[in-house]
Amino acid sequence: MRAMVLTEFNRPLEYQEVDDPRPGDNEIVLKVRASGMCSTDIKIVTGRLSDFIKLPHIPGHEIAGDIVEKGKNVRHLEIGQHGIAYPIISCGRCPYCLSGNENLCINTRRLGFEENGGFAEFVKMPADNFCPYDSKQPFENMAILSDAVGTPYHAFTKIVRLPVGKPVLIFGAGGLGLHAVQLAKMMGSTVIACDIRDESLAAAADCGADLCVNLLKSNDPAGEILQVTGGLGVDVVLEGVGKQETVSLGLKCLKKQGTLIVMGYNPQIDIIVPFIDLHNKELKVAGTKICTKQDLIEVVSLVERGLINPEVTETMPLSELNTALDAVKEQKTIGRICIRD
Ligand SMILES: [Zn+2]
Ligand SMILES: [Zn+2]
Repeated sequence: MRAMVLTEFNRPLEYQEVDDPRPGDNEIVLKVRASGMCSTDIKIVTGRLSDFIKLPHIPGHEIAGDIVEKGKNVRHLEIGQHGIAYPIISCGRCPYCLSGNENLCINTRRLGFEENGGFAEFVKMPADNFCPYDSKQPFENMAILSDAVGTPYHAFTKIVRLPVGKPVLIFGAGGLGLHAVQLAKMMGSTVIACDIRDESLAAAADCGADLCVNLLKSNDPAGEILQVTGGLGVDVVLEGVGKQETVSLGLKCLKKQGTLIVMGYNPQIDIIVPFIDLHNKELKVAGTKICTKQDLIEVVSLVERGLINPEVTETMPLSELNTALDAVKEQKTIGRICIRD
């Protein structure tokens, strides 16, 4: 099959002919029809997640396609069925798997990280990782559900339960942030979106954001946000940028007993959180990691019922993956870029 292969960190991926994956007894092979591009792919390609990546490697963890081959024990799935690859291959036995938190499995292997991913013609996975959907839905829209939609959904349903009618502040109106805006609106929140690009903020407004703040243009973003919340601040901050400045600003804008969810991350830095604010305001700071398979099933249902609209703004062929990576790296994209077959 053809695949885009990372042979060396910090180098363009190579469009290569590699062996077709063969399914084990409990596995399936998916013809990849669409594969979303995530900013985590930049971290992978630049070697910032090199502890998890063995070269040569095929990245890509937002995958949709149809089943072309299945192992002899796979009886509940049919050839040709359309579905999403839930990217976390979990052990099913550890305390996290047993409590339905397989996103935190201690024996995890992930498609596009420890295992080869979706920037290829075919991908192999355990049959249990296949999440079917109504075949009327376009592949590119469904591909991005496992992370770009599933991650903010997990943050807003499992890490914190969004209080209806209360203000939520979202940093970063990109691939994940635009879906966070849609989800928070659907759940009845007032949404404040912050970014440094007017185009991204316009997209956030289209997704329903009530107030959009350009952090490069506003003289006093904290003042602006506190003013629209009656001086109290927001109940929840979703930090999707992974920077100290936005974490600090988020804490400043947080209401007493509010929660800051750190969704963006930078593996090379630590963030500083002031003791005195945690103490005086009883603040909570929480991490969030992709989503569970159940979250993905719920998100599929939201999209099938038209309640959430996947924000795929561009599609490119597999051979142009390096161009797509550059566009994400240089923050030239709005929403998600999807690689199509
Ligand atoms: Zn991702
Ligand atoms: Zn496990």
